[in-house]
Amino acid sequence: MISVIIIAKEQLIKGVFNVFNKRKYYRTYSDYLKEKYGEKVYKLPVCLPVTCPNRDGTLGVGGCIYCGEEGGVFGNQSPEYTIKQQINRLRPHIKERYNARKFIVYFQTFTNTYIPLEEFKKYVFEALEDDEIVELSISTRPDCISEEYLDFLDQVKLETKKNVTIELGLQTVNYHTLKKLNRGHSLAEFIDAVSRIKQRDFEICSHVILNLPWDSMIDVVENSKIISALKIDTVKLHSLYVVKGTPLAEMLEKGEIHLISREEYIERVITFLEHLDPEIAVQRLVSRAPEQPTLFVNWNTSWWRIRDKIENLMEKRGSFQGKRFDYLNGKALKGIKNSKKEYPDTQT
Ligand code: SF4
Repeated sequence: MISVIIIAKEQLIKGVFNVFNKRKYYRTYSDYLKEKYGEKVYKLPVCLPVTCPNRDGTLGVGGCIYCGEEGGVFGNQSPEYTIKQQINRLRPHIKERYNARKFIVYFQTFTNTYIPLEEFKKYVFEALEDDEIVELSISTRPDCISEEYLDFLDQVKLETKKNVTIELGLQTVNYHTLKKLNRGHSLAEFIDAVSRIKQRDFEICSHVILNLPWDSMIDVVENSKIISALKIDTVKLHSLYVVKGTPLAEMLEKGEIHLISREEYIERVITFLEHLDPEIAVQRLVSRAPEQPTLFVNWNTSWWRIRDKIENLMEKRGSFQGKRFDYLNGKALKGIKNSKKEYPDTQT
C-alpha cells in the first residue's frame, strides 16, 4: 500500500494520474478513495428532514435562483424514511453490482447542519453505526458551520475512528455573481468556514458551477486558484442546469441570461483543472440531472459524453491537472533567486 501511495505521488508531480493502470489527466475521486481506504468506496446519499436558511426566511425566501424543490439535487431518497432505512434501500444494489464493502454516507439535500445540534447528533450517530460505513460526508452552506458543530464532529471522529468530510457549496468566488444568485453569503463566509474546518482534522469538498451566466474565464481561473490556495481536499464541478419554475428558468425564458456553449464549458473545465493543485481530487466534471423537471441540462448531452470529451481533449493537447499551478508561495520571487542584478537606491 505504501509503495502504491509513493508511485501515485510521483505521478501527481509528473501530472499524469496513472493510478491502478488507468491513464487519467486529473486526480479522480475514486482513485483518491482507493489510496485512502485501499479499495473502492461508494457513496450512499441520504436525505435528512432539513431545509435551508435561504429558503425559510432566516436569510431569504425562495432560495438561490437555480434551486428547485429538491434542494439543489435530484435523487430517489426521501426523509420520510429513517437514515438506516435509506442506507438499506441503496446498499444491497451497490454491493451486488460492484462487490462493494466500504461506504460513505452522504447527507446530501438542502443544508444538513441547519438543524438543532441535538437532532444533528442523532442523525450522525445513526449514519455511522454500521461497520461498513467508513466516512460521513455532510453537505452544507459556508454560513452554517460553527465551532459547536465542529466540536461535536471532532468528538465523533475520536469515538468512532471514522472520517468526516464537509461539503461546502461555494459555486463561484465572484461575489457579484453570488449576489445575483441570491446565495445569501459572499466569499468571506466561505473563507471563514474553510479556515475553521482546517483547524480540525476534517476534509473539505467544495462545489463550484463553471458556467454561471455572469462569470467569465477569469472567474473560472480564480475559482481554481482560491480553492488551491485554501488547500481544499476535493472539488465537485457542476454545469448549471435550469429547473422549471425557478427564477433562473424565468430569466432564461425571458432571454435575460445567456448560457455558454458545451464547447466553452469544456474549455472552462480544462482551464480550471490546469490551474488546480494536483493534490486536490476531482469528484465530478459535469452535473447529473434528469431532463424531466429541467428547461436546460448539459446541452442535451449525457454527462459521461461531456466527461469523455474533456478527457480526450486533455489527452490531445497534453493538458493535465496542475499544468498551470505555479502561482503560490511567492511566485514573483522565483526569478530573482540566483540573480545578481544591481538595483538603484530606491525605496519600496
Ligand atoms: S443553499 Fe442549497 S438548498 Fe439552500 S437555496 Fe441554495 S441551493 Fe437551495
